[in-house]
Amino acid sequence: MRTDPLRYLQLALDELEGQDSRRPMHVLCGEQSAHACVDDRQVVNLASNNYLGLTTHPRLKAAAIEATARFGVGAGAVRPIAGTMTLHVELERKLAAFKQTEAALLFQSGFTANAGTVAAILGRDDVIVSDELNHASIVDGARLSRATIKVFPHKNVDTARKILKDLPATQRKLVITDGVFSMDGDLAPLPALCDIAQESGAIMMVDDAHASGVFGRNGRGTVDHFGLHGRVDVQVGTLSKALGAVGGYVAGSQLLIDVLRHRARPFVFSTAHPPAIAATCLAALDVLVDEPEIIGRLWDNTAFFKAGLGRLGFNIGTSESPILPVIVGSTSLAMQFSDRLLDHGVFAVAIGFPIVPRGLARVRTIVTATHSREDLQLALDVFRTVGEELGIV
Ligand SMILES: *Cc1c(COP(=O)(O)O)cnc(C)c1O
Repeated sequence: MRTDPLRYLQLALDELEGQDSRRPMHVLCGEQSAHACVDDRQVVNLASNNYLGLTTHPRLKAAAIEATARFGVGAGAVRPIAGTMTLHVELERKLAAFKQTEAALLFQSGFTANAGTVAAILGRDDVIVSDELNHASIVDGARLSRATIKVFPHKNVDTARKILKDLPATQRKLVITDGVFSMDGDLAPLPALCDIAQESGAIMMVDDAHASGVFGRNGRGTVDHFGLHGRVDVQVGTLSKALGAVGGYVAGSQLLIDVLRHRARPFVFSTAHPPAIAATCLAALDVLVDEPEIIGRLWDNTAFFKAGLGRLGFNIGTSESPILPVIVGSTSLAMQFSDRLLDHGVFAVAIGFPIVPRGLARVRTIVTATHSREDLQLALDVFRTVGEELGIV
């Protein structure tokens, strides 16, 4: 009999089990929305990145259906060979105009946009100066580039400046940060990072995954929010979160985009988005411009829910965005908290080590524009009940 050469993996799984980190995946039995069916029960959903409720917006759905009817379900090739459709070109033009850059390039996801771009523009002789809480896709891109990676403590501009100062003036370097940090909901000190990048002649790159559709005018992102147009060389955005569909993009100079088009490996070697996705994202950009009140509702709901959690005495960290972490301490307590919330009809996932530091495990909540006040009040009531039951408040 053949022995399974993969059986060593059981050890890894047992280890996860031992750390309380082995989790079943929750399953949505319907659409992704503020009220959702999760594991066969109706819940108030505080677990998605669907900030604006666009996953189910009628204009986006109509665009997807129409594009499928007209153009079929697949692009059928990678972009550089035969997979570029008019919808992709149109979307890239629209994204560049929206972000006020010369050009933009679509990627299959925000993950591949980050990983593909960093690896495409840097090489082994270069240095990357990176916030310690940057997203995994930035870390992977940095590793793939083979550049030297120098990590600075979270948001610590002084240390980042010192790292840059200690490098030779001729050294090619990249300062890179998330715009909004996904586990804490705080903002990067982007104006100061742009200053130190400029002082040292470094390339400045920001990953606006959680800021796309949320920060800046009509959701243009953190560069717009801070008034830094022209000072960030590489802007990454996602179409997978607030924009409701899937995909990533890079916005920047024509030179940057021309190079990425030939060198970014996920762009070159992985099939283009289906036409329905490109059409959906075009419609999403229209909605951001035509219906800015949706973003207003997101921020109203954020203020309401944040004040409520604060009044109940929860530790919500340093969030400045609709991402509101409820920090409880141990991973097992966070898991228990999340399970009990779900028992009471509130869906918010636990996040523990190694995604966040030991002792800072949390239940992460994200409110959306489409939650009603009743939804949020119900969620607050449940947070209070479960928080008291577990001795957290
Ligand atoms: C979600 C996320 C990504 C990945 O975006 P996808 O479009 O889901 O691949 C990249 N960076 C950050 C900071 C994220 O939160």
